[in-house]
Amino acid sequence: MPKAKKRKQQKPETSGPPFLPSELLSKFVVCQGCGERLQPDYWTKSDEPFGPIELKPQNGQRMFAVQTSTRLICKCGEKVEFPLEPTVLEHPIYFYGDDADRHPKGYYLHSYTLIGGTTGPIRDMKKALEEVKRKFVPDSDPASWKIHVKDMMNSKKRVTNAIYKRFDRNGLKEFFEECAQIFSSRDHLTSHLHVTASAKAGESRKERSRIEKAIKATAHCALLSECIFNATKQGLRPEFILDAGKEIKKFPHIESWSFDTHQEARYYLAYEMLSHGNSIDPPKLVTPGSHPCLELADIHAYFAANWMYKVSIGEEPEMDINKFGLVRYLMVQDGSRYKVNKATSIPRDYFP
Ligand SMILES: [Zn+2]
Repeated sequence: MPKAKKRKQQKPETSGPPFLPSELLSKFVVCQGCGERLQPDYWTKSDEPFGPIELKPQNGQRMFAVQTSTRLICKCGEKVEFPLEPTVLEHPIYFYGDDADRHPKGYYLHSYTLIGGTTGPIRDMKKALEEVKRKFVPDSDPASWKIHVKDMMNSKKRVTNAIYKRFDRNGLKEFFEECAQIFSSRDHLTSHLHVTASAKAGESRKERSRIEKAIKATAHCALLSECIFNATKQGLRPEFILDAGKEIKKFPHIESWSFDTHQEARYYLAYEMLSHGNSIDPPKLVTPGSHPCLELADIHAYFAANWMYKVSIGEEPEMDINKFGLVRYLMVQDGSRYKVNKATSIPRDYFP
């Protein structure tokens, strides 16, 4: 049922609407009057956010109304219903995210990984990582120390950490290869994604910071769109738990760009289509390494960024990216589209 849109939107627009997967962009309905193929405008901003509307409870049950179609008026005057295909979400699917950035000559390169899985595979990956940590550092509780790849790979930082300094170069290589096996041996059960977004670096410090912020928001948007669309299509409710990037003072802490991107998206029909008529919680930003899957996200994001960087400058990467197994690799192509390739490696045209 179409819903009334009365309330005026409060928040000013700060960044663009989310991207649509190509599956949605290629969806049309045919007008019975003249045979014209029609598609609604996904990008017109509504006065009110989309998502289920709560109705009066019935027999103590909470009731929601969900829009199932939107009406289009064809050029010939015929009214055509465009289906929105809402789904009911039965189970959660969790996505744990972390980033890594590089600066290849004159460029900014953003690398972001989401470790995804339903309850069982997440629990299984957590256990597997604990086992690897215990194997390499047998006398310490695996939960008592966190993997931070950048610090572990940096020989100066490594010696200042009581745990990290016990690894030599070879030990590190073996350790991270076993971590990569946690990915590759389960890639048929999990749903990992990685996005690459790059741009020419700015001239000034201010310009560079502006570009990097915009790139991150764009990549975030593409990644969330892809996850939300695929999960809700399968009746799964995506929950995003992202590394806050720095030590956080308050919980839950929402970084402004993450929250704005999400909130604003809900004003577009695009979002209703992406979420299959469901309302999805904004990402939670949490303390780095506070879940083993955030450590896994840190590992993949680091080695993906390192692999792209080293390949782009013609040097040997610290680890072959293929060792991580199948990942859905996304690339932001321009301001409004992204492409996806499910593979064990990152296509060469994804980075400068
Ligand atoms: Zn028509």
